[in-house]
Amino acid sequence: MENLKKDGIIPSLAVIIVGDDPASKIYVKNKKLACEYCGIKSLEYALPAETSQEELLALIDKLNNDNSVSGILCQLPLPKGLDEEAVINAISPKKDVDAFHPVNVGKIMVGNFDFLPCTPAGVMELIALSGIEVKGKKCAVIGRSNIVGKPMSMLLLHQHGTVTICHSKTADLKAEVSQADIVVAAVGVPELITGDMIKEGAVVIDVGMNRLPDGKLTGDVEYESCVVRASAITPVPGGVGPMTIAMLMKNTVKAALLNKTK
Ligand code: NAD
Repeated sequence: MENLKKDGIIPSLAVIIVGDDPASKIYVKNKKLACEYCGIKSLEYALPAETSQEELLALIDKLNNDNSVSGILCQLPLPKGLDEEAVINAISPKKDVDAFHPVNVGKIMVGNFDFLPCTPAGVMELIALSGIEVKGKKCAVIGRSNIVGKPMSMLLLHQHGTVTICHSKTADLKAEVSQADIVVAAVGVPELITGDMIKEGAVVIDVGMNRLPDGKLTGDVEYESCVVRASAITPVPGGVGPMTIAMLMKNTVKAALLNKTK
């Protein structure tokens, strides 16, 4: 950060939130706190749920053209009536710190990218920092969403993993998961992955963040039954979630360098 300052570059992150979804509000608050912690300028645009598509796109256009803004993020999901795909496409690929824009998705596919999507990048960072090698390993990614499952699979493939992508129509989930050395669960179903499904010594990474009726946060992995069989496992909360935010900060600094924001 000090080096950037010397060059007159000031990283800043514009976060747009539309409506008052409680989970989104918490995510935005945590992103703001992380910016403060890292010395990144954070700009919050809290818009009412009744905001029109035109108003939202006009704000994005303004931020795209503002030289003091490094990165732009629009918190999803958007309220009904707003077109998420149009919003994703409207953010300049050079300021797209979530890496959701099709240009950035394509760049990830060919392995020559500016930004990586924060959650899969956080998982890869956890794997690397834990000294776990992906090369030659069997990897099972459960979930095929555009924001987690698909890019996650691609990043494991870039690291020479042999990747199986499982989803809601997978015929025998247990048969697929039980062969994997590395299991990444990104489903949104509380405790779907149980100890009897995983191979002894597997690395188990839980991306899931599910709010139970009693308010408790739980992952997609049944921690108690998996921890006794896994060689490494991430908890929820406190595993992938904080890494996602750390990667967002990294992308914002990258965007500041890319856009030379002042
Ligand atoms: P999504 O709903 O877009 O996708 C879920 C995927 O799971 C789908 O591809 C679907 O085919 C698959 N699926 C559903 N039921 C299944 C089943 N029974 N068996 C196998 N596959 C099944 O969800 P998402 O946005 O990818 O998020 C997944 C989870 O990760 C959610 O709990 C979400 O809250 C969490 N998440 C966490 C972070 C983080 O920072 N930790 C970030 C993003 C998402």
